[in-house]
Amino acid sequence: MAERMLKFVHLPQKMPKKRPAADRREDFAEIYADFDPATASAQASRCSQCGIPFCSVHCPLSNNIPDWLKLTAENRLEEAYEISSATNTFPEICGRICPQDRLCEGNCVIEKGFESVTIGAVERYITDTAFENGWVKPITAPVERAESVAVIGAGPAGLAAAERLRAQGYQVTVYDRHDRVGGLLIYGIPGFKLEKEIVLRRWRWLEEGGIKFVLNADIGGALPFTALRETHDAVLIATGVYKAREIGGPGSGLPGIVKALDFLVTANRKGLGDVVPEREAALLTAAGKDVVVIGGGDTAMDCVRTAIRQDAKSVTCLYRRDRQNMPGSLREVKNAEEEGVNFLWLAAPEAFLGDEHVTGVRAVRMHLGLPDASGRQSVEPLAESSFTVKADLVIKALGFDPEDLPAAFGVPGLDLTGWGTLKVHPRNFETSLPGVFAAGDIVRGASLVVWAIRDGRDAAAAIHRHLQAARPARAAE
Ligand code: FAD
Ligand code: SF4
Ligand code: SF4
Repeated sequence: MAERMLKFVHLPQKMPKKRPAADRREDFAEIYADFDPATASAQASRCSQCGIPFCSVHCPLSNNIPDWLKLTAENRLEEAYEISSATNTFPEICGRICPQDRLCEGNCVIEKGFESVTIGAVERYITDTAFENGWVKPITAPVERAESVAVIGAGPAGLAAAERLRAQGYQVTVYDRHDRVGGLLIYGIPGFKLEKEIVLRRWRWLEEGGIKFVLNADIGGALPFTALRETHDAVLIATGVYKAREIGGPGSGLPGIVKALDFLVTANRKGLGDVVPEREAALLTAAGKDVVVIGGGDTAMDCVRTAIRQDAKSVTCLYRRDRQNMPGSLREVKNAEEEGVNFLWLAAPEAFLGDEHVTGVRAVRMHLGLPDASGRQSVEPLAESSFTVKADLVIKALGFDPEDLPAAFGVPGLDLTGWGTLKVHPRNFETSLPGVFAAGDIVRGASLVVWAIRDGRDAAAAIHRHLQAARPARAAE
């Protein structure tokens, strides 16, 4: 083993080729290429095969990272794919969009002196290669079971659960209010991080495996929630969180101030070839405009980089903390800076200027104070530090809260936590309604794709246990 592995001492870290920033600004294609076979194998061979692999410990899916790295180093890619896909429903998606610097790679032990193994890029390469070679087989159920499960929400949590349940032989129907499958993977996350074809390919794969999709189905609206409970043996709620956090202050209601997801969904729809109504398209485009994005998370980073690609006149990101304390991935900040985004750290909006339409943002400088009870430094405005940034499009990207689901579904008995997320039993994912389970952002709050996959897989296992335990009772009916 030692001969093939442990090469980190002599072999430097190498990421897949990244397109030059000037090219990237012109389209919505992904910015990183796949590894070529020789580089993938060489980069995988940098792993030191730790006895206690901290990379796996910090991967929400507990992926067997050292095993698939070793197999990749040995060019045994089909076996690497088998191991990688055993714990992750969508490895090629996680390899592209997990914030690896905070998860697996940030905890790779060689990171201390030698820069981490490029785990995400190898994970993506393995599954992309598996698709190219026809190694990704349709889901096959060893037995067909009579019980049916309704999954509400075709995002990563719902899809991961649907796949696990179908693989156990259940009849699975996924309902979604959108016209395409993928949730935020298709309509939130832009193509330059995750090309749409990658998501569409998984949709086809799930359908080939026998999962049924009922789209344009707004549960609680056109289709009552109670109807699903009556027609299925179990229900999984995986509806995500979509209520945008608002910003107050003078002028905050002016036209030209828009929500991040409205902006991103419109951009993604255009990219998918959909016809967007003219008024919406004009309001929700950055073309030729001075754009200010408020926020410092993944959503804000996606907005600034989308605005650049739409040919904005200028793009400025206002964030009230500093670079080190922002919630978004630092790798994405670097990409945004290369593409021409101007970051104003330690700056927060005070007022929005304009009469009929927004014309600018009056902002104030902030400074970081003492840590609060949570250990996070407080932010305080600096006296007499106001300044103005020109803007004819302001995008609010301050995060998301859950909608009032019991009201939307018309089921007051569905219990919530203090944060408005669905309350579930910590071990079996069951809500306060018997036979109704929940997973993903609607339980966790706005989180990550990899956590949604993990929760979806765990919830599917819990639903399987629940349906098996209920069998004798049903048989006696
Ligand atoms: P979602 O993906 O939100 O899917 C929920 C689905 O439920 C949707 O399809 C919705 O249409 C459907 N639905 C909701 N209500 C109903 C209803 N009443 N009836 C029928 N269907 C309904 N995470 C990362 O790991 N990396 C990233 O780079 C990243 N970037 C992001 C960028 C943006 C702009 C955003 C907003 C989020 C990003 N995230 C990222 C977070 C990640 O997308 C989410 O954590 C993840 O998608 C949550 O999965 P989910 O399945 O719980 O919900
Ligand atoms: Fe890393 Fe995400 Fe892959 Fe886990 S799923 S190994 S955290 S990229
Ligand atoms: Fe390999 Fe790094 Fe994981 Fe250790 S922590 S097994 S070196 S990838």
